[in-house]
Amino acid sequence: MTKNRSRALACLALTALVAACGSPEPADLVLLNGKIVTVDEAFSIVEAVAVRDGRIVAVGGNEIVSAYEAGRVIDLQGRTVVPGFNDTHTHISGTPQRELDLTETMSIGQMQEQVRAKVAELGEGEWITGYGWAEDQFAEQRMPTRADLDEAAPANPVTLTRAGGHSAVVNSLAFELAGIDRNSPDPARGIIERDASGELNGIIRERQDTVGRLVPPATREETRPSFVQNLTDLLSLGITSITQAGVSPRGYEEWQTVYDEHGDVLPRASVQINWAGRERMEAFGMRSGDGHEQLRVGAVKVFVDGGFTGPSAYTIDEYKSEPGFRGALDIDPDDLRTIVHDAHEMGWQMGFHAIGDAAIQLIVGQFADELTANPREDHRHYLNHFTVRPPPEVMDLMAEHDILITQQPNFTYTLEQRYVENLHEEHAAHNNPLRSPMDHGVFVAISSDILPIGPMVGLYAAVTRKGQSGAVYGPDEALSIEKALNGYTRNGAYVTFEEDLKGTIEPGKLADMVVLSEDILTIDPERLLDVEVETTILGGRVVYER
Ligand SMILES: [Zn+2]
Repeated sequence: MTKNRSRALACLALTALVAACGSPEPADLVLLNGKIVTVDEAFSIVEAVAVRDGRIVAVGGNEIVSAYEAGRVIDLQGRTVVPGFNDTHTHISGTPQRELDLTETMSIGQMQEQVRAKVAELGEGEWITGYGWAEDQFAEQRMPTRADLDEAAPANPVTLTRAGGHSAVVNSLAFELAGIDRNSPDPARGIIERDASGELNGIIRERQDTVGRLVPPATREETRPSFVQNLTDLLSLGITSITQAGVSPRGYEEWQTVYDEHGDVLPRASVQINWAGRERMEAFGMRSGDGHEQLRVGAVKVFVDGGFTGPSAYTIDEYKSEPGFRGALDIDPDDLRTIVHDAHEMGWQMGFHAIGDAAIQLIVGQFADELTANPREDHRHYLNHFTVRPPPEVMDLMAEHDILITQQPNFTYTLEQRYVENLHEEHAAHNNPLRSPMDHGVFVAISSDILPIGPMVGLYAAVTRKGQSGAVYGPDEALSIEKALNGYTRNGAYVTFEEDLKGTIEPGKLADMVVLSEDILTIDPERLLDVEVETTILGGRVVYER
């Protein structure tokens, strides 16, 4: 049914019922004939919802429609609506104009074309950078060389980083500007490759910064358009709220600039601030929760350990891949204790990165000590990630002190090989646990860390516990689809102290909702990855339609 027809029908219904119900109240938007999953306390499912001034004013059966005269009526024709997804761990940024995306580049010839186009766009002399090429995906089946780049860009310095970030190919002009020639020694911990005759072939391993340091930093003005675009794109995934997992106090200014200008059509954001020392945090002047519905300051962030790319997550047991190796802390434990104390005392909420079980154990102990010495009502301190399941007593301590988790079930899907390679079986099976912390009474919200960012991957992995290969990891950690949806909507709002504002479809809440192509509560979980977002509604406005 077209929207016009459904509107006409609703108006007809209105006209017929006005006499019976009194004069209808105005509404901006009415959704009817749906399966609207409210994610309220009782997990109620209703047919209709009415919106006015950006907020939900009524939910219920189709009969509520007669009480409203709506500017726009959407007949859902039975489709499923859920609260807008809240991704509590993302990294969104802009791209400098000089940067090429090479992740889909299928040949050296295509790479040259991309470089030529960028030369034409920027003019001679400008640095050209890029990221994401991989020679095994090239038709030529060889590494790109300095000569390949010289052909495409004789008068622009070029440095293109390989996928993974451990090497780059650069051209002659880039070498020249960096003062590197065939007689230069290799830098510490890196290799500048040479061909059989001793000439530079263009590849730099590990130390591409020897050239990259010359690239002028991008200005905010330059990266802003792509930053706004990348934020806008989240709406097409049904994401109406995010937490940016860490920017500097200065970096927050750019978020303010962008949200001052475009905030009403961007996902609502809570921005974690990277701890920058007590003095700078005091000078920043704001605290967790400051801001408004569109943009606020989130928790303060610190890295307790690394991750599994290095790998450097700090674990209790040694790595399967490297006997004797347990990863490493990213910070001295005494310094960490000082930060925990200072941040807590200053009134910040803390949301710290901890991936390995030893890192989790350490930071939970420090949070608990601080909370025991200086209790604070409703602090909502949390851990980002929680990848390696810690001993049960650690989860009990978290429950006792109300320490929350923002978990990424999609890691189970995309990073399974890293867990299989580095963790012993029991830990690999329980990677990114969901059920066990919940069974211990720990509050868990779900997020993506953009690996990838689409919520359907997180829901799929939370429900199936499957990796990309199809292997199942710790089925006892699986959630019902209802619990997973709860984690991706309602629980996210709680993490940022906004549970009275959003996260469910209830009267009084912000009208952030998503229309899905299928009923995620009843379809075969195997098909979750194919579910599409049809419409995204932000504050009562349709901001995305497929
Ligand atoms: Zn992250």
